[in-house]
Amino acid sequence: DSHKYTGIVEDYCCDYETVESVNGAVLHPLLQELVKTPFFRYFKVKLWCDCPFWPDDGMCRLRDCSVCECPENEFPEPFKTPSLPKDDLICQEGKPEAVVDRTLDAKAFRGLAVVDNPWTNDDETDNGKMTYVNLQLNPERYTGYTGPSARRIWGAHKETNSSGESCPEKNVLYKLISGLHSSISVHIATDYLLDENTNQWGANLQLMNDRVLKHPERVQNLYFTFIFVLRALTKAAPYLEAAQYDSGNHLEDLKAHSLIRQLLHNPKLQAACSLLFDEAKLWQGQSGPELKQQIQKQFRNISALMDCVGCEKCRLWGKLQVLGLGTALKIMFSVDDQKQSAQPLQLRRNEVIALMNLLNRLSESLKSVADMGSSAGAVSLIQ
Ligand code: FAD
Repeated sequence: DSHKYTGIVEDYCCDYETVESVNGAVLHPLLQELVKTPFFRYFKVKLWCDCPFWPDDGMCRLRDCSVCECPENEFPEPFKTPSLPKDDLICQEGKPEAVVDRTLDAKAFRGLAVVDNPWTNDDETDNGKMTYVNLQLNPERYTGYTGPSARRIWGAHKETNSSGESCPEKNVLYKLISGLHSSISVHIATDYLLDENTNQWGANLQLMNDRVLKHPERVQNLYFTFIFVLRALTKAAPYLEAAQYDSGNHLEDLKAHSLIRQLLHNPKLQAACSLLFDEAKLWQGQSGPELKQQIQKQFRNISALMDCVGCEKCRLWGKLQVLGLGTALKIMFSVDDQKQSAQPLQLRRNEVIALMNLLNRLSESLKSVADMGSSAGAVSLIQ
């Protein structure tokens, strides 16, 4: 009884095998390179925990929970506040020196105005508490964060899983968060602390099996989320291609731009799957605008919930990936292919960074599911 998934991914024209092969052959290698470039590896984030919902009861047992904040003090020059003297720019949480002026966004994205993302709890205005984090130094993996705090956060989004077919929009929200949950579980399982005494890290196939592989709905939602974000990426292609990726390192920036172009124009991706997610049908009913606002509010609440995550590193990745999902939603439901009058898409630097890093995480998870799927099935047979 293998847990290898086959067949059609619900709501899409793609089948599991097609998505897996395009991911493995094309997307995964390109994304792995892209997230290493200076432009994409620094994420601006407020790590200070200020849970608006419950007193924080999350306990983090391990040293690996804490986030390493740019110890090399080397984040890209154009990301910094131009008016501040260089020596004041110490990259530490809560330090005003880490403040980033919004005009930098205009510099990176060809003079486009700074706009708030209505899908997320807009953190970036809170500049005094923001810091830059080198994502490459902070891999998403097992941290030991668990207990009622974590379960309560994951449980909160289940409220969005309402009436199924009669309300497909809310169903989308549920699936996106469930897919993210699956992806985080996959990362925990693939990079697990196997032995605390010897500090041995490796894959925990049993965990992978128990938490994800043996639940077809969770695997399905992982694929759904991946395709949703991919679809958003292709929708934002003209914007992403025109944007400037300026980290101050010209060669690395050229590389980032070239990788973006290779991603967006990959013939295999275009041919293999037309990604027929019918977002045009969403929000169209009589109560469309109100429903959209209601769901936006729900997503913002999920975004705010990330402040309740009681483990710094989990909070970092939770915030990044929820911002990435919010960016995908913003693209999907604001860019209207049919309407000429639609507002031009505007994305902030941090949104683009979150979107690409989220896609990379989902792509890694998909690859792990594809690679480990059958072997994890074998494990369950043995035990
Ligand atoms: P949980 O994963 O907490 O799941 C709780 C319940 O949700 C399950 O019992 C099940 O009923 C349901 N469920 C499980 N998966 C899905 C799914 N895909 N879709 C729908 N329902 C589902 N821990 C780390 O070690 N490293 C991290 O980087 C990390 N990041 C986190 C980020 C966030 C935002 C949160 C909320 C938690 C994070 N955690 C992380 C904790 C981790 O996700 C688990 O909560 C923890 O390992 C405890 O797992 P559990 O077995 O109790 O089940």
